[in-house]
Amino acid sequence: MGYIVSILFGAIVGSFLNVCIYRIPKGESIIFPGSHCPHCQRSIPFYDNIPLVSYLFLRARCRYCQGPISLQYPLVEGVTALSSFLLFSRFGISWSYLFYFSFLASLIVITVIDLYHQIIPDVISLPGVAVGLAASFILPQLTFLNSLIGVLLGGGSLFLVATFYQWLFKREGMGGGDVKLLAMIGAFLGWKAVVLTILLGSLIGSIVGVIVMVVKGKDLKYAIPFGPFLSLGAALSLFYAEKIIQWYSYACR
Ligand SMILES: [Zn+2]
Repeated sequence: MGYIVSILFGAIVGSFLNVCIYRIPKGESIIFPGSHCPHCQRSIPFYDNIPLVSYLFLRARCRYCQGPISLQYPLVEGVTALSSFLLFSRFGISWSYLFYFSFLASLIVITVIDLYHQIIPDVISLPGVAVGLAASFILPQLTFLNSLIGVLLGGGSLFLVATFYQWLFKREGMGGGDVKLLAMIGAFLGWKAVVLTILLGSLIGSIVGVIVMVVKGKDLKYAIPFGPFLSLGAALSLFYAEKIIQWYSYACR
């Protein structure tokens, strides 16, 4: 029963995250007005706004103008529902569930906004740093010192890399948004996981970057946003940090 509720709750939050993704880059309110179709501007009735179900039922088209509904909507709802389910399986109903769910929800919003606009909004990452630091007083697995070092290490290390990159290539490679995102990740996960996040994010990012270059025939100057890879690295660190570190120390013995 709890598992089903965690999935439903996740899907409903995911539906709200879609609103955030659409409105935060425009500087619009995320509360008012209610959802409306981006094509015909008609407001969407509640029965057409049911997470995952409405998308399938409407066959990805607006009821009124037949305008396409982006696959982003069910994807975000599905990933958020999965995040909620995995965290509930691990932590049950607890502070850990609550904080890590808000953490993953923020990463989902950041990932999609970064993919569309190549920006990471400060309105998510900076409060995220504060919430992560505050969470260290409540979460059993995180001390304040660990969280604080995570912020400094996450923000600081990427800042150094970005500065060096800019000095070397005379152009901006990583945005200041990535620095603040890593500070937020460090605040929530602590310093070990932030190191792992940078390693995983760079590794996955490089692999995808090479594939994109080969497939699209573009050179290294074609910038792909780093935020989604850092977010994915952070999610993997949250769930699998111990396993990855164990496997690594075993493999390198
Ligand atoms: Zn419409």
